[in-house]
Amino acid sequence: MVSKSEASQPNRTSDIVSGVLAFDAALAKLLSQARRPVKVSQVPLLQALDRVLAAPVTSSMNVPAFDNSAMDGYALNVADLANPPGSFVVVQRIAAGQSGLAIESGEAARIFTGAPVPEGTNVVVPQEQTEAQGNRVIVTGRVKAGQHIRRAGEDVALDDVVLHAGIRLEPQHLALAASIGVAQLPVYSRLRVGVVFTGNELVEPGQILGTGKIYNSNRYALHSLLARVGCEVVDFGVVRDSLMATTEALQKAAAECDVIITCGGVSVGEEDWVKQAVTNLGSIDLWRIAMKPGKPLAFGRIGNADFIGLPGNPVSAFVTFLVAVMPFLRQRMGLVERMPRYQLAVAGFDWAGDAKRREFLRVRQEPGESAQALLALWPNQGSAVVSGLVWADGLVDLEPGTRVKAGDLVRYVPLSDLMW
Ligand code: AMP
Ligand code: MG
Repeated sequence: MVSKSEASQPNRTSDIVSGVLAFDAALAKLLSQARRPVKVSQVPLLQALDRVLAAPVTSSMNVPAFDNSAMDGYALNVADLANPPGSFVVVQRIAAGQSGLAIESGEAARIFTGAPVPEGTNVVVPQEQTEAQGNRVIVTGRVKAGQHIRRAGEDVALDDVVLHAGIRLEPQHLALAASIGVAQLPVYSRLRVGVVFTGNELVEPGQILGTGKIYNSNRYALHSLLARVGCEVVDFGVVRDSLMATTEALQKAAAECDVIITCGGVSVGEEDWVKQAVTNLGSIDLWRIAMKPGKPLAFGRIGNADFIGLPGNPVSAFVTFLVAVMPFLRQRMGLVERMPRYQLAVAGFDWAGDAKRREFLRVRQEPGESAQALLALWPNQGSAVVSGLVWADGLVDLEPGTRVKAGDLVRYVPLSDLMW
């Protein structure tokens, strides 16, 4: 089924497969709807880890700010070494944090790592290549002009853009910001994501499982996937399979959150109320996409909140989240688009490829006979088989109807690469 807004667009025929939106078209549509965040706040460096940088950071200084010694040793003028025996009067001692005075010909300064090299010197001779004799030092090793001096600005130059907007701040970014004296960074507000689980059958782990019930495993997958990508999660719990309960939960979530994600209840069964509730409260733009596992994935809007309806089957929900929802959230959080690192790998299995949908297979890299790893396939690719997700280290991404024979090259992406 295709919504009105979609039908008005010049869809390529290949975008629609059996009345369902092709995966690439669906993803492009999702991404085109991902608004960039607007709320920015300044946070101290130590609170900026994993946040998204909202503006570029420019350096207002050189790093290092001054020429300094890279070794413990002696600073001197290399020209003075032209006349052996290379003996110098040690006239100063400069430790890190101090500063020295200009040096005359024939003089040297005792110097330590990080200390500014004094005027009149152009080399630091490591102490291992010298011999101290009273107030003199004799150079015993070979010396090259300029050696062991870290030049001003060699790391960062004044006015360099050192960090670009849209990056997720990692430890090394914070270190660089600190090294140019920046104490706070502008970051986007964390995305508040409301999660709603549907199904009369759901029971929380730790509770007794009645007849016909199952544990709410999706809750734990979704919470932790959202935490990985840096979202704030607001949990609206499990709603019963009824229009009223679903509507109430969605209304509450829409009032509080930037994005609402539901799980289950989004197919076409009589117990599936999500589509109707969202249609009543707002709009649904995208309904089913041609991927396996997956298929039912809804996208829409309730008030100012984006709405995403994930399928209920645990593997469908997990994989759909990784390949479609994660890119949407990344963009919605203000991250600059980053492509997952797909690679070509050798299939160690056959696959009939009779699905009309884009397929994502649970696979694992295993040592082959040659140096190259072979991809092994988890035998049960069912959309409810969570143990396959645990066994797998990645997904194989197949275009609809792709037949695979052992030895073929296929597109593989590690799970870890899809998780942030
Ligand atoms: P539905 O899309 O609601 O028809 O659900 C499809 C399948 O996924 C059913 O077998 C549900 O029991 C199962 N399911 C739905 N929600 C969850 C959940 N939160 N955790 C685990 N399984 C679920
Ligand atoms: Mg259900």
